[in-house]
Amino acid sequence: MALIVKKFGGSSVATTEKIMAVAKRVLDEKAPGDKIVMVVSAMGDATDDLIELAHGIDKDPYRFAREMDMLLTTGEQVSIALLTMAFKKLGHAAVSLTGPMVGVRTNSVHTKGRILDIQPDRVREELEKGNIVVVAGFQGADQYGDPVTLGRGGSDTSAVALAGALRADTCEIFTDVEGVFSADPRVCKGARKMKEITYSEMLEMARLGAGVMQPRSVEMGQYYNIPIHVRSTFTTKPGTIIREDYTMEEKSFVIRGVAHDDKVAKIAVLGIPNTPGIAHGIFSALAEANIDVDMIVQSIRNIEKNVTDMVFTVASGDLSQAKSVVDKVAEKLNAVAVLIEEDVAKVSIVGAGMLGSPGIASRMFGALAGANVNIDIISTSEISISCLIKGSQVTEAVNAIHNEFFPKD
Ligand code: ADP
Ligand code: ASP
Ligand code: MG
Repeated sequence: MALIVKKFGGSSVATTEKIMAVAKRVLDEKAPGDKIVMVVSAMGDATDDLIELAHGIDKDPYRFAREMDMLLTTGEQVSIALLTMAFKKLGHAAVSLTGPMVGVRTNSVHTKGRILDIQPDRVREELEKGNIVVVAGFQGADQYGDPVTLGRGGSDTSAVALAGALRADTCEIFTDVEGVFSADPRVCKGARKMKEITYSEMLEMARLGAGVMQPRSVEMGQYYNIPIHVRSTFTTKPGTIIREDYTMEEKSFVIRGVAHDDKVAKIAVLGIPNTPGIAHGIFSALAEANIDVDMIVQSIRNIEKNVTDMVFTVASGDLSQAKSVVDKVAEKLNAVAVLIEEDVAKVSIVGAGMLGSPGIASRMFGALAGANVNIDIISTSEISISCLIKGSQVTEAVNAIHNEFFPKD
């Protein structure tokens, strides 16, 4: 008898046929006495469609963040109702519950909420009654009871957090690929499926753009020390286990994977004074608006006049808000100009093994040079190296780097 949390992403529940297929599969695989909690995303592109709808009202609907949450939480509500009906139709007791109903309490940062606490008493009660519990991912409620969503891909985090809070035996993430690959399999044909990956490497891959798992979900997995099995909805093959450490077999890789993120934008604030407090002025204003800043470069524009340029990247989704925040600060600083570049992407390599292996960075840069890709900004962490490049070259860049570190046999 096991308590299992199974999360199904949008493409897995994109149509009512697919929802029926998910329900059938879960019942087929269920051992007698197993307790099953399902966490589901909105159907197919439903979340994108809802965002599009809001664009019909305003070109930047995220400035009405609370209302965006009111809107976006409806997507998951549709899929939990339909999946629960599917279980009932197949003769199994089931109940649908929204995030707030299962006690997912969040902060009040609308559209980018973080889970503060889960009190899943209602889930336990329903499981005791023999129900399969079908929970809406991506959502919770803040201290006022207002709906809050957890950022794109947030159903992963709902699932892992719920698995942790319930002390589940396993957490399975069912998606449209067979596991975690050494690069996005949609962009890199030679990408290889990994049997296992550590929390820290997966977290770095996810932060750097590997959208298969939301970064926060991996942090949750590590916090609760719950192994996460990422696998395909459409096959029964084993996928990839995300866990604390590797078995010996998988330890030999220096680089675990190549990640890319084309949903980034570059902002350059040109001609500002090179004096204490300038960086603080810009980045504290962005932090106040809850905008994450990624790669940052400050470079001297004119030594005699002590004038500098500040260049940094933000997520594309935050660009219009970031631009209006930065414009205000730039005006106060008498900046020469604020330039925006949207055709940019970040490519990264990730691997704990690179710590003791000199020459990894030069191999990455060599691969990019060989593909005629110019590097705009470079940044590093202990277990990753990232380069900002032209967005239109991202496919060549990922493939060139992947061929360098994972040559075809
Ligand atoms: P879901 O709707 O199931 O949550 P997502 O679209 O959020 O699915 O995540 C799955 C997608 O993640 C895959 O279709 C794939 O294109 C992308 N992806 C990016 N990087 C990787 C990677 N390293 N391994 C596997 N998939 C990846
Ligand atoms: N439906 C939400 C999204 O598209 C959450 C998720 O799928 O994980 O981002
Ligand atoms: Mg996802």
